[in-house]
Amino acid sequence: MTTQPFLSVRDLRVRFRTEDGVVRAVDGLSFDLERGRTLGIVGESGSGKSVTNLTVLGLHDPRTTEVVGEITLDGQELTTAPESVLEKLRGNKMAMIFQDSLTALSPYYTVGRQIAEPFRKHTGASRREARSRAVEMLEKVGIPHARQRVDDYPHQFSGGMRQRAMIAMALVCDPELLIADEPTTALDVTVQAQILDLLKDLQQQTGSAIVLISHDLGVVANTADELLVMYAGRAVERGPVREVLRSPRHPYTWGLLGSMPRLTSSVTEPLTPIPGTPPSLLAPPPGCPFHPRCGYVTAVADDACRTARPELPAGRGAACHLTPEQRRTVLAEQIRPRPGGE
Ligand code: SF4
Repeated sequence: MTTQPFLSVRDLRVRFRTEDGVVRAVDGLSFDLERGRTLGIVGESGSGKSVTNLTVLGLHDPRTTEVVGEITLDGQELTTAPESVLEKLRGNKMAMIFQDSLTALSPYYTVGRQIAEPFRKHTGASRREARSRAVEMLEKVGIPHARQRVDDYPHQFSGGMRQRAMIAMALVCDPELLIADEPTTALDVTVQAQILDLLKDLQQQTGSAIVLISHDLGVVANTADELLVMYAGRAVERGPVREVLRSPRHPYTWGLLGSMPRLTSSVTEPLTPIPGTPPSLLAPPPGCPFHPRCGYVTAVADDACRTARPELPAGRGAACHLTPEQRRTVLAEQIRPRPGGE
């Protein structure tokens, strides 16, 4: 008997109707996630990573968005669930940590109240119980003097403390799925590492499943178990994070790695940005959507990169027409892979 994954996304397609046409923000995405595991999703802006997760939470605008495919959370189908069901699940069974705590937290209410309110709403706890839960959560995420700081307003917290408060708010009802969208982008490197460690510690305590979204491979490298690389609304590579980083298979992943600073790089070694820009999702290019930026198009026979869309195989793999032999040659030459563009 096969058991269903805790979170399962199958052939998800998300389209926005705009005045200029239909934007294919997510175009046939599938992945699974189990409890206690972290999935890192990386890609440039507009790759579909945030849209995917807002769709999981049911936070898209149904008037302008068409969602096709299946999303099941612990056996519950979400794409067809009524808003009343999603509202009960949000904050309770699934929660999100947003990128910008200054925007996500209301300046008009104390931090404690913003943590306590969802707890009261979902559990029916009294004000007193919810307040002591807020203190407990602030302690859990490492806010010193939590009993006093619970009555502070967001502007009285530093950036790192606000991010911790947002994590406390997201975790107050012990959600089983936590979606963290660029949770450390606005923070300096030291605080970034502390927040990522905190997420890992909390996951060990609660066994929650985490989706960690980032444009930065470095952020997910030490935190995620599995990695999904997205480009133009599609997954182009996936696998265990260490394997993907040790032997990446897709030229786009090579490009992301090439544009990242490394500890072993000399300060004068230039970073290599991926040439060009992501395609318009109103009219994605035919064939492989990465082909206008890829330096390996001529290595593939029959002009397939421009005419045939490569599919992502199940399990560890990449959506690319290069043969395993060609990839090995590129990597063995130890020339840091560089997409050259056309
Ligand atoms: Fe590059 Fe072709 Fe592979 Fe796409 S399919 S990534 S264009 S080599």
